[in-house]
Amino acid sequence: MNSQSTTIQTLQVQLAEANEKISQLEAMLQPLSQQGSLEYRIQNTLLEDISNLLSLINSTEDLIWFVDRNKRMLLSNEATLASFKKELEIEIEPGMLTTDFLPEEQARYYDQIFEAALRGKTLRLNHTGTNNKEYAATIQPVKKNDEIIGVSVFARDITEIHLLQEELRYHEQIIASTPNLVALLDKDLNYKIVNDAYLTAFDKKREDLLGTNICNLMGGKHFKEYFEPHLKEAFSGKIVDFDLWISLPIQGRRFLSVTYHPLRSQNLKPKHVAIIVRDNTDLKQAESDRQRIFEVSLDMLCVFGFDGHFKDLNPSWSRTLGWSTEELKEKSWLDIASPEDRDSSLAISKRLLQGERIIGFENRCLCKDGSIKWLAWSSYPDLEQQQVFSTVRDITNRKRMEEELLQLATTDPLTGTSNRRHFIEQAETELKRSRRYGSQMAIIMLDIDHFKNVNDTHGHSIGDEVLKRLVDCCHQELRTTDIFGRFGGEEFAAILVETNKESTLRTCKRLIEQIAKLKIRTAKGQISVTVSLGFTMHSADDISIDPLLKRADDALYKAKNAGRNQMVCI
Ligand code: GH3
Ligand code: MG
Ligand code: MG
Repeated sequence: MNSQSTTIQTLQVQLAEANEKISQLEAMLQPLSQQGSLEYRIQNTLLEDISNLLSLINSTEDLIWFVDRNKRMLLSNEATLASFKKELEIEIEPGMLTTDFLPEEQARYYDQIFEAALRGKTLRLNHTGTNNKEYAATIQPVKKNDEIIGVSVFARDITEIHLLQEELRYHEQIIASTPNLVALLDKDLNYKIVNDAYLTAFDKKREDLLGTNICNLMGGKHFKEYFEPHLKEAFSGKIVDFDLWISLPIQGRRFLSVTYHPLRSQNLKPKHVAIIVRDNTDLKQAESDRQRIFEVSLDMLCVFGFDGHFKDLNPSWSRTLGWSTEELKEKSWLDIASPEDRDSSLAISKRLLQGERIIGFENRCLCKDGSIKWLAWSSYPDLEQQQVFSTVRDITNRKRMEEELLQLATTDPLTGTSNRRHFIEQAETELKRSRRYGSQMAIIMLDIDHFKNVNDTHGHSIGDEVLKRLVDCCHQELRTTDIFGRFGGEEFAAILVETNKESTLRTCKRLIEQIAKLKIRTAKGQISVTVSLGFTMHSADDISIDPLLKRADDALYKAKNAGRNQMVCI
């Protein structure tokens, strides 16, 4: 719209200049025409004082010339001489016939025209020159004592004006065809131009608005408070933009974006202000819909800059993390990442900055109360705007459930130690490591002696208590790097890493001793249990955990057979 306005402005300046020239010329010719027609001039003034006439007619850019009854050039002004010289390369001299200086076809045409003028007719015609210049010409008889003595030709170059008019017509069409509301106000705030969109919006006819004051349309009080100050500013030379909700007669409430654009010629104060109005209701509506979604979303939505700092966050952030929006806006999304997830968050940040979309990145974030929440991020970087849009979901509950499920899947519910499956998984991993690094490892099988009796004598719950105490005891006696698990019933297994046979023997002995020392209270007094152990050392031939388990089991069997409460190594 701005470039349109600028072009209109330029056109108007050019038109004003052209008009100025015309009026100067008219002013010059006026005293003469007041004294009578050109005929009079020739009779009374020009012929008597030809030098006066010459200086006058030479002062104009219009072409003026006279031919006599024989259609011979009598007199021509400098503009005429220059024009013929430039366009036809002909030096015109008094006495020349039109056929001497006009191209043949034109000469014939003008011959007829002059004939008509010599018969007393005044002719007005448009003439296109050889160089495509447009002239508006007036050809009229020159009389002396009621007798026609010749013909005067007055031709004005209107090429420029024609072009301007054409351009103006295009602009008028553009203005008419734009869906924007366009109007032009003069200094008195009266409408000079209104386009169809403007009329339709206000349900008015053109004649209702043109020449009337804008305050009639906009309403008195509203106008004084709102439009008048803006218009004043525009007439002082500033471009004014503002938005408003307004009630239109047919469309109802609309959100309009208005520009008041001052139109001025060079440094002069603006004489007109163009009003350009865009109906942005749909945009505004979409924006407020978006805002509403933003506000009600349970997910956390945010925009952060490439420096990581939050630019915009929805209320869900405060609800989830406890920080206020203001507090968060002072932070970067990396600031709230918990220390253990900082490196992975930084790595993601680098990928985002390279324009990669990241969906489903999970990290732990610090809440204001010091607690930790798991968040899942879907992030879309916008390289142009140097910002990232993220939808973030609180997955703390899901993570907790996953952890619980994992716990359930890997641990024995009674004792809390690893179950058989998890033990074997860990054992396989440990075996691979031992093979890779050539370190030694031992596997121990442990079984409670005569456990059936415990159950039978003291009840199942005492049996359970024995199992729990035994597990606690084993965990205490083993290193944290060792692996322990319940293999089934009252049978347990352990893997001792980076060890040797002597050290394993010592550990087994300690286990037997410490377990035997456990005192479990029962209704019939304290009881204790003994265990039998079988163990084996990993050898280079053991490529899986099965032969190791088998050997340890065999060793345990031997320990049982040898009388229990002892260990056997195979
Ligand atoms: P041995 O010295 O030969 O190992 O004799 P034992 O009695 O310990 O062996 P047996 O295999 O005959 O009995 C194991 C008993 O362990 C049988 C079963 O009731 C008991 N048991 C297995 N799992 C549990 C459990 O989870 N809780 C309780 N209380 N007892 C269990
Ligand atoms: Mg047993
Ligand atoms: Mg058993």
